[in-house]
Amino acid sequence: MRRLLVPFLLAAIGAAIVARADDAPAPPPVAPAATKFRLGKLELVALRDAQFTAKNDGKIFGGDVGPAAVGEVLKAAGQRDDEFTLAISALVVKTGKHIVVLDTGIGAGAHGVLQKSLAEAGIARTAVTDVVITHSHFDHTGGLVDAAGGLEFPNATIHLATPEWAFMQEKGNGALVKAIAPKVKTFEPGKPLVPGVTPINLYGHTPGHVGYEISSGKARLLDIGDMAHSSVISLAKPGWKMGFDNDSALATDVRRATLARLAKVQELVFAPHFPYPGVGRIRASGDGFAWVPGVP
Ligand SMILES: [Zn+2]
Repeated sequence: MRRLLVPFLLAAIGAAIVARADDAPAPPPVAPAATKFRLGKLELVALRDAQFTAKNDGKIFGGDVGPAAVGEVLKAAGQRDDEFTLAISALVVKTGKHIVVLDTGIGAGAHGVLQKSLAEAGIARTAVTDVVITHSHFDHTGGLVDAAGGLEFPNATIHLATPEWAFMQEKGNGALVKAIAPKVKTFEPGKPLVPGVTPINLYGHTPGHVGYEISSGKARLLDIGDMAHSSVISLAKPGWKMGFDNDSALATDVRRATLARLAKVQELVFAPHFPYPGVGRIRASGDGFAWVPGVP
């Protein structure tokens, strides 16, 4: 399964190399899935796209502490110590007026599973009004286009933080940038894009990486994007280096602070790379945190 590391490493290396992720081997297909739940008056759906298993070789997690230390953390969580698995999922928020898709998975490069999951949720791709992107890495933006390179969500506005769009135009996949450019609308984090969907500055993983706070009345959920990748390692050891973080020091600070806040207020969380459906809460555990999965 070593070859499956390739697209992730390409994403980590970033720059023009990201474009070559299109040529990387796709992960084996997973069954489509759509998990529906409510948040206040909003209807949410977690969509499955893909899943990767990668070797614990110190290249992705714990580059500063080594694979043996990472293995100890995995073992303590009852998992194999020589590999780890990351899911790739996306979220839908239906407000009544808007159908918002949060990130788009790998898309055609992952067998188009996300589109099948969307169909399972009973949502037509042409009905999607807004696509909001946490950051420009291919496992969040690949599904913006179909296998032929055309827009997967032809009627949707595509929202990206201003510095992330600049980063994507400079370093991202040129064909993808060209395809989506007419639909892109940039924002500064902090104000709702549509009622109930507010981007939150979680810069660090990439220059304009954001989370999205979904709110209805008093109910809240934070889509954390890639603020944390592993439900085990990133939470138990938030201070460890993560190979895909663009600005490691900033990303580490943001991870620690955000996890501490989420554990304190017990806000619901959606995490695209945690085990599907990636919905649950964070609790404090020792000198780190732990994942408590659970769909409301
Ligand atoms: Zn990612």
